[in-house]
Amino acid sequence: MATPSRKAGAQKSEAREVAPERAGRRLRVLLPLPLEGAYDYRLPPELVAGPGSFVEVPLGGRTSLGVVWDDAPDQEHVAEGRLRAVIAIKPAPPMGAPLRRLVDWVAAYTLSPPGAVLRMAMSAPAALEEPAAATGWQRVAGAEGRITPDRARALEALGGLTLPGVEIARLAGVSMGVVRGLASAGLIAPRLMPRAAAFPRPLPDFAPPDLRPEQSSAAAALREAVESRGFGVTLLEGVTGSGKTEVYLDAIAETLRQGRQALVLLPEIALSTQWLARFERRFGAPPALWHSELSPRTRRVTWRAVAEGTAPVLVGARSALFLPFPDLSLIVVDEEHETAFKQEEGVIYHARDMAVVRARLEGATCVLVSATPSLESVTNAEAGRYRRLGLPVRHGGAAMPLIEAIDLRQHPPERGRFLAPPLVTAMTETLARGEQAMLFLNRRGYAPLTLCRACGHRMQCPNCTAWLVEHRAQRRLLCHHCGHTAPTPPACPECGVEHSLVPIGPGVERIQEEVAELFPEARRLVMASDTIPGPAAAAEAARQIEAREVDLIIGTQIVAKGWHFPHLTLVGVVDADLGLGGGDLRAGERTMQLLHQVAGRAGREDKPGRVLLQSFSPEHPVMQALIRDDFPGFLKAEAAQREPGHWPPYGRLAALIISSEDARAAERGAREMGLAAPVGPGLQVLGPAPAPLALLRGRYRHRLLLKAARGVRVQAVLADWLARATLPREVRVQVDVDPVGFL
Ligand code: ADP
Ligand code: ZN
Repeated sequence: MATPSRKAGAQKSEAREVAPERAGRRLRVLLPLPLEGAYDYRLPPELVAGPGSFVEVPLGGRTSLGVVWDDAPDQEHVAEGRLRAVIAIKPAPPMGAPLRRLVDWVAAYTLSPPGAVLRMAMSAPAALEEPAAATGWQRVAGAEGRITPDRARALEALGGLTLPGVEIARLAGVSMGVVRGLASAGLIAPRLMPRAAAFPRPLPDFAPPDLRPEQSSAAAALREAVESRGFGVTLLEGVTGSGKTEVYLDAIAETLRQGRQALVLLPEIALSTQWLARFERRFGAPPALWHSELSPRTRRVTWRAVAEGTAPVLVGARSALFLPFPDLSLIVVDEEHETAFKQEEGVIYHARDMAVVRARLEGATCVLVSATPSLESVTNAEAGRYRRLGLPVRHGGAAMPLIEAIDLRQHPPERGRFLAPPLVTAMTETLARGEQAMLFLNRRGYAPLTLCRACGHRMQCPNCTAWLVEHRAQRRLLCHHCGHTAPTPPACPECGVEHSLVPIGPGVERIQEEVAELFPEARRLVMASDTIPGPAAAAEAARQIEAREVDLIIGTQIVAKGWHFPHLTLVGVVDADLGLGGGDLRAGERTMQLLHQVAGRAGREDKPGRVLLQSFSPEHPVMQALIRDDFPGFLKAEAAQREPGHWPPYGRLAALIISSEDARAAERGAREMGLAAPVGPGLQVLGPAPAPLALLRGRYRHRLLLKAARGVRVQAVLADWLARATLPREVRVQVDVDPVGFL
């Protein structure tokens, strides 16, 4: 470690054996860049650093930040004389060993350069600087000057304290000009103030609920796990509204009592206003937050507070997994089945799986929470790798909603409409009772396809294999894959016939229009990522619904998430079959999870809930499982389907996406990869084939799928495969271990 801790004598003799002492010590620095590995640097004797220290080093003609890494320096590669020196040690707590091991682990697992993973753990470089001490103001004893009534009030408010200028102005009810006047008159003088904690401590016993007996025993088990200070994973299951959140909040209370840190991962943190309000009611203080929409200042302050251990509870999106907690005791992954936890770009990783890895490296408790857990997690629980806790019924005696299908073949909507008569009737009844109804359709915009009635031309994205989605309010067509947008043309661009373009199929905007015609008096709210763009809009939407300023909600999957609306009793699913097409391995499981969650929004308090699924195939196993409320039975059937063919979780998958802006190069690359495909026991390669999204953001794409038996180390197979293939230079290969999406 750092030389100064050694005795001076020992230091001298060692220095003679190794290198001249003035040359300093050789060490490895990992840079947050997509390089092969860490680089060697020389640590000048006057600097003190050990593994985990954040450092500034020269790199080419500029400088870079980096972290002192653990692996042995590479003596052969760079000669002593050519070694460049570390410039400075950053004044920040060193990155802990568990997080360094996580970076290595994720890099090895996903076949990413370690520096690319480190970059995710260094997402707020400004936080490495010592935060500036705040300046306050104090009265100058015995000073004399002109005292106006405003100035007198400000001085009185200040009294014998040291306060920031804005605080003096606020307390005295005067402008900042008055405070500045006092300063220039020499009546008050600046003083450095101790830095206030960025996050107040949540209080474990602020307002705990009385847990029901089954909640109590689940909570006790989690508390015990936290107390044990050892690694373990618990799968916490229970229908929507059964009180799972209260149970894991109790485990968080335990980490607070221990003075340690807790991390909660939520799939849609920007929409979690109700969750946050509830946390604050429970603990008397808000948690720290982490997501992509934080201001640079909040990012810096939060990262620093986490690193210094002064953010006891942090709630975040998947990227929060790479924050520098020094003393992590609990990781909760709520809605663990959500695909939002999978990062699909850059370093492709699954935050739920990596949460388990981090918990293991930290010796922490990990809790996976869901009403409809993934087959992966259930299989792990059944194999005894995870402990399993369940809450069988809804809290407060609320019944589970009654789920029925509407067979669209028997009850077709009227021409040009999308809501079947039985659903319209149910909506009428619900509104007549003064209750709220929600329509769910997982499609933004007005119509997913625009077609020319004259020539059949379909409006398509120039950069992607995708139709353009009409957004009528903006009078534009939009690509949901690349963001390409253009005004809706007055005539068909192909045949030139005017007013010939017609919308095909519904999006939420079109359903809104239909509902406006059917229920002109009802107050409507559309909830989609473009109408609810962030936390403020989500909070306002939730407020309106809770205050009953809204009668009908029309929403995409953002309405499925965790909301608790007491007066909502009817949920209509406009197109329950939507997610089942496409031949994706988990299409059934995902549709089941999403629809179960949407259904769970209905009847959460005393009034019973009802759910209507519009479907062309009510006999489909997914619809049947929903209607019969038989999730375990559904999972059993899924397992029986996947096990014989060794599909996950009974085997392993890795996808390769070969892409290029040059169509022929992409195809050649895919063929090369196909020829170099690994052969061996327990290995199978499917493809190459053009990807379903054959063109995405201007790149032509081909896919290969490696299927391997459970025990196979796919990383080694993939690394060997990639090394053997010679690819055209303009071709990019993306590796996706444990793929979730198959487009
Ligand atoms: P889940 O997370 O399983 O969907 P929640 O924890 O959100 O369920 O609980 C559903 C509702 O019941 C919430 O409004 C919650 O505040 C309330 N609730 C749950 N458990 C209790 C309890 N023991 N005492 C009082 N209210 C509770
Ligand atoms: Zn596009």
